[in-house]
Formats: sequence, structure tokens, C-alpha cells
Amino acid sequence: MDGKPWGFTATVLAEPCDKSDPHGALSVPVYQNAAYEFSTAEAMELAFTGRSADHAYSRITNPTVEHFERRVRRATGALSVTALNSGMAAITHLFLTLGRAGANVVTSPHLFGNTYSLLRSTLADFGVETRFADMTDPGSVAALIDKDTCAVFLEIITNPQMEVADLAALSAVCRERGVPLAADTTIIPFHVFRARDFGVDIEIVSSTKYLSGGATGIGGLLIDYGTFDWGHSSKLAAAAKAYGVDMREAFTAKLRREIHRNLGAYMTPQVAYQQSLGLETLEVRYARASRTALEVARGLAGMRGVERVTYPGLPSDRFHEIAVRQFGAAPGAMLTFDLSSQQVCYAFMNRLRLIRRATNLFDNKSLAIHPWSTIFGTFPEAVRLSMDISPCTIRLSVGLEDAEDLLADIGQALSAASPERG
Ligand SMILES: *Cc1c(COP(=O)(O)O)cnc(C)c1O
Repeated sequence: MDGKPWGFTATVLAEPCDKSDPHGALSVPVYQNAAYEFSTAEAMELAFTGRSADHAYSRITNPTVEHFERRVRRATGALSVTALNSGMAAITHLFLTLGRAGANVVTSPHLFGNTYSLLRSTLADFGVETRFADMTDPGSVAALIDKDTCAVFLEIITNPQMEVADLAALSAVCRERGVPLAADTTIIPFHVFRARDFGVDIEIVSSTKYLSGGATGIGGLLIDYGTFDWGHSSKLAAAAKAYGVDMREAFTAKLRREIHRNLGAYMTPQVAYQQSLGLETLEVRYARASRTALEVARGLAGMRGVERVTYPGLPSDRFHEIAVRQFGAAPGAMLTFDLSSQQVCYAFMNRLRLIRRATNLFDNKSLAIHPWSTIFGTFPEAVRLSMDISPCTIRLSVGLEDAEDLLADIGQALSAASPERG
């Protein structure tokens, strides 16, 4: 390309459809079909055996979903992008592509609740072992890696602990030991956090969150940067050989030609259309929401009744320096704060007028939740404590409202929940 490459939004908006629409529609049509018709039996053979790019069946590829995948691929510079029907589906595909019975995953106990359960219960039943390290201490990660480690996996800002690992340091450990680094980057969108530049080989995103814009549907992305030498994995080296692809394409080949087809969790065309539309406004929505989150965190820090505010954009935060280096001055639109007890948290939540009581992150609306009693509510208390979840914590996902309105709502709910003592 001549001159400076386009920015994120221009790149997304400029992505053409692969065939011109007979009506000249300016957005990609929603191809709401299961099957595709062929002009000849020979063309059918080529499509079904992967020797032509024609679509065969919408469990495997679909033009609307593919257009969304291509936009993300172009904007991230990835080797491949696979759109699935939830963030959890993307994480499941990751481990089923990399692992096998006898393999282990080195990760942190600070995980999204279903990811924790997927590893500790679902995959454990199939002989995949999970090892917990402290991701903020690369030495503790290195100590757990052995010849059966199929991945180091982490979330870039853990939820709700808000822990931030030094990704370049972790990636150096992974490189040295020949293990891929896989990161769930849901909390910071990929136009801000350039995962590949920090040595992440595989990126997982719950596109339900920031990307969707307005929280209209559930989706997930599995992004392969093609940076890992799969010669280190006997399983994927065998896949590269079986499919006749370069070693760097081994993960994508195993994923797209086997795991993805067998699991049948492809994103639906309607959701791909909505999330593709979300992608067009991601940059402006994120800039606004993250700036507002920083303002709300600052405001909360001075409020009576608030015992602690955790947001890595605050200079007092223990991860401030590394978070700003990796994610910018306003690192995300999620923060947590602690009140004096679970009872006070409930009273506070019940008095909210503008902020909604709901799970989810990065809706246009601000959302509050008490993680201890909801997301982690079915976990034994000892497990919750081992995951550093506290009954006094409220998680706030900041939306697109004005900071002033959000702080006013928090202020009125707090004064009602924790009246002045004495
Ligand atoms: C929401 C979330 C997931 C799961 O995504 P779904 O789309 O709900 O399946 C995984 N990781 C993180 C960090 C999340 O916030």
C-alpha cells in the first residue's frame, strides 16, 4: 500500500465482500442458509474436499461469517480468524486443538468462572491436567512447564481480581520452553492491545463483550497469529504433515479442518452481521467507555463507604505501570470496588437507578454485579477464596453514559446503603 497504512476503523470499513451484490448493497448481506447449490458434480467435489474456496455447508463456512472473520484478520494482521458461537466455544476449541489426554495447561487460578470449570472439570474428565501458577511471576510459570505442557493460558486483566501479567516476560519463558502462549484478551480490544507484539501466539476474544456493541448476541473469536513453531507439538506436527501445510499453519489446519467441523459451534450469520457492525464503532465506543471508567474510578476513590477501588488506570494500583505500558492510560472499562460487607453491597445494588443489575461486560449500558454470589455463586467457598474472590466486591462495567451521571447514581446508592455511623 502507498503511504501510511490505514488505521483500525478504516481497515474494517474498507473490507470488500467477496462477490458483488446484485443490488449493490453497502453492507454485507445476511446469508441465512444451511446449504449451497453447485453447477456440477465436479465443482461439488472440489468444494467438499477443500480444493476450492466455495462454501459447502454453513456449519463449516458462511459468506456473512467469513466477511466478519476477514475484517478481523485484516485489522489484526493474523494468519487466521475463526468465529464461534460464544467465547466459551472459542476457549474449548483452543484446548481441544492443542491438548490430548496426558497433556497439561499451565494457567492461573484467576480465571473466568466457566473457563475454570472447563479446565478443572470438563477437560479433566478427558485426562487434561490444569496447573496453577502465579502469572505475575514468570519463574513460577517456568517451573510448572514440562514436556507435556500444551499451552500457557491467561487472561490479560483477570476478572474480578484485576491482575495484570507482564506479557513480554511470560512470552520469553514460553519461547524458551517451546510452549505456545494463549491469551484471553476480552477485556482490552485488539485495536488497543496488539497481542502479537507482546508475544501472544493465539488470542481468544469473547466478542459478546466490547465487539458486539449493544450486547445483541453471543460470540467468540479464535485468532492464530502464525507465530508459533508447531514442530514443538507432536500432535500438531503430525497435523501439519497430514494436511500438507507449513508448520506455522498446523494449528489453523487442525482447527478448521477437524475440530471446528466436528464440534459444530460456528457463529451464526445473524450474529456475525451484528458483531461486524459492532466492529465498525468499536474504536469510538471503547475510547469513550475507557475514559469514563478512569473518571469513575477516580471519583469512587474519594467516596465515603468505598473501602477499595481496583482499576489499573489509577496510579495507586499495584499493576499501574505494566497495565499502562500494555493497554494505555485508561486500561479498559471494567473496575471493581469493595464495600464493608455483602449486605452493604446488596443494599447498594438495590438502590441503583441508572446502572443496571446484570452480568456481561461492555454493553452500552453500565452494569453492576456482585461476583461472589453470582458468577462464582455455585463454587465452594474455599474455592472462591482461593481464587481471591471477596464477598465485599462489586464489579462495574462502564458503558456509554456520562461519567457525571454514573457518579451521581453511585453516590446516591452509597449514601443510602451505608448511612453515616453514630
Ligand atoms: C464473557 C467472557 C468469556 C466467555 O465468553 P461468552 O461469550 O460468554 O461465552 C470468557 N472470558 C472472559 C474474560 C469473559 O469476560
